[in-house]
Amino acid sequence: MTDTGTHTELAKRRKAVLPDWVATYYQDPIDIERGEGRHVWDAEGNRYLDFFGGILTTMTAHALPEVTAAVSEQAGRILHSSTLYLNRLMVELAERVAELSGIEDPRVFFTSSGTEANDTALLLATGHRASNQVLALRNSYHGRSFSALAITGNRAWSPTSLSPVQTTYVHGSRRRGTALAELSDADFTAACVDDLEDVLGQLHGNVACLIAEPIQGVGGFAVPPDGLFARFKEVLDRHGILWISDEVQTGWGRTGEHFWGWQAHGDSGPPDIVTFAKGLGNGLSIGGVIASAEVMNSVKASSLSTFGGSPITTAGALANLNHLLAHDLQGNAQRVGAVLRAELDDARLRLPHVSDVRGKGLMIGVELVRPGTGEPDAAAATAVLEHTKSAGLLIGKGGLDGNVLRIAPPLSLTEPEAREGAAILVDALTRAGERS
Ligand code: PMP
Repeated sequence: MTDTGTHTELAKRRKAVLPDWVATYYQDPIDIERGEGRHVWDAEGNRYLDFFGGILTTMTAHALPEVTAAVSEQAGRILHSSTLYLNRLMVELAERVAELSGIEDPRVFFTSSGTEANDTALLLATGHRASNQVLALRNSYHGRSFSALAITGNRAWSPTSLSPVQTTYVHGSRRRGTALAELSDADFTAACVDDLEDVLGQLHGNVACLIAEPIQGVGGFAVPPDGLFARFKEVLDRHGILWISDEVQTGWGRTGEHFWGWQAHGDSGPPDIVTFAKGLGNGLSIGGVIASAEVMNSVKASSLSTFGGSPITTAGALANLNHLLAHDLQGNAQRVGAVLRAELDDARLRLPHVSDVRGKGLMIGVELVRPGTGEPDAAAATAVLEHTKSAGLLIGKGGLDGNVLRIAPPLSLTEPEAREGAAILVDALTRAGERS
């Protein structure tokens, strides 16, 4: 595929008018113009199989007819956003999400993004506990607003070190090269629980909450041992500290085995607060928070923002969620995810620079290192991204060291598409391993 210059020209105009810190993928960034199913087309007419879904925003499929119809119909009626009037679609979607939440006496509040959802969760937890002390996991990512940055555990992802809350980072994420990463699941869990108890002992005070992603997304699809957060919850409950599960990437069945990521850690009960976004809107900007009435009503305000839960985003999200449930896309994520995973596991055995293939369902991370030293190899990840793009496959990357490929296709991915994408990816991985 060749770049005829249109993209290059647009990239230049973008750089002249957008902030320097708004980054793009690829040496020649692409301008995605159209999508259908699991495919997108750029402005040059190139077709790509989409294994990243705009960072997991395309949950079901591109241009899903039900979503398009629901959005068009609503757009033809009225476009507005206000919590001051009744909004049937918002109520219906909230009822649906509440039903699926697993939280007792649930209340749902819609936002426009995952960042705002986490911001709201912090507002609730700190208000409920009358404390601005919070715990987050090392290597976490929860957004880049001023408060979300304050719970994002990697300075490289943060343009400021100033903070509106007092955050203490605890262990809970395995990172290659650290002693904790080498431990068995049981020993890792025990070490993390000890660390949590130790931190709480040192803080002496009233801690509001612990926020964590069940599988760290931007952090490189790092999967903690099942049950880790259940053990955390036992400790947190003794102190009345709230557990916030950030399901922005792991929600809606993406992990295959469960509808929410926290359900792999549900032995001690559900989280106190769940935040969500991305996939629910299939590209529309919707996020939200679920909490018990008691926690949700800690805040006394008539609303938090003019936007969030507008008729157009809720219309699209409802159609999207109904499609997901009617077609058992969670089950599909488990079945087709296993096919993709098997192909990649097989490649890992042959390719010494592929140090790990991990994840659950259709959320798969591929970690790249320099063979011999085991050092993270971000350059190899970039090379794979470029190779796959030129072969017609979009993937993502992440990880603290930028050396993890992130694969998260729409949940309707078919088995032939999984095999086709895996073949392109394995070819790109092989080439990246042959670099001098
Ligand atoms: N939480 C997690 C786990 C995320 O991955 C992200 C976005 N990558 C966010 C929160 C922020 O969501 P948004 O980009 O919709 O603001």
